Amino acid sequence: MTGLVLTASGCLFWVCVEGTRERTDFSRALFSWSVSAISCDEGVFLEKQTRALLVVDVQYDFCPGGALAVVTGMDVAHRICGYLESFADCYAVIVFTRDWHHDPGRHFAAQGEEPDFLEIWPPHCVAGTKGAEFSPALLHWTGQAIIVSKGHWSAAYSGFQGTADISAGRELFLQGFLQESAVGSVDVCGLATDYCVAATEHDAMENGYKVRMLVDLCGGIAADSTARALTRFVKAGGELVFSEAVA
Ligand SMILES: [Zn+2]
Repeated sequence: MTGLVLTASGCLFWVCVEGTRERTDFSRALFSWSVSAISCDEGVFLEKQTRALLVVDVQYDFCPGGALAVVTGMDVAHRICGYLESFADCYAVIVFTRDWHHDPGRHFAAQGEEPDFLEIWPPHCVAGTKGAEFSPALLHWTGQAIIVSKGHWSAAYSGFQGTADISAGRELFLQGFLQESAVGSVDVCGLATDYCVAATEHDAMENGYKVRMLVDLCGGIAADSTARALTRFVKAGGELVFSEAVA
């Protein structure tokens, strides 16, 4: 299992590869990213009215000890918690997405079948089980946020494929909820950078939102697919930002 570690110093990322650490300067090796620090002071009033935070799939099964763990999953959860303690007020709405599988078909490997870790995965985040619970580090925040559930009966990587129970059984897709909330821009963080975070960012941009990725609040499954996801995100017009300057 490989993964992108969250800490970043300048443009240097640390990559964990099967328990070892190697230092990789993605900005030099791959392309030049423009990375900036978040500031809630910049146009804070207007932004606060229209910006949403999307926290993607920080669930037990995606953290160490879970069925499909991102090696940095627990670190991500704690960092997001710390970020929210300082910056929750920067957002008009805060949304937590979750994988919430009942019977997602070929998304799960059949009994005795080897997952390919591309489209077929070990069973994970089964609705109502411990594996589908949010990381305990985030329980304070999930209790007061909008919860978007996805993937009930098939694979669903993007939070925009999910729905939220807004009030008294009134169900809305994420896009409908963001529209109703007059959201104009979104910040995205969570797990995993190379799958559900990437798919959520892609759909957010497709839906016309200005999208920032809180890069130090994300974790990837594999270093190479994480690097590809970041490349695609930047090329599509997304902005990479570090939260550490303000967290
Ligand atoms: Zn899934």
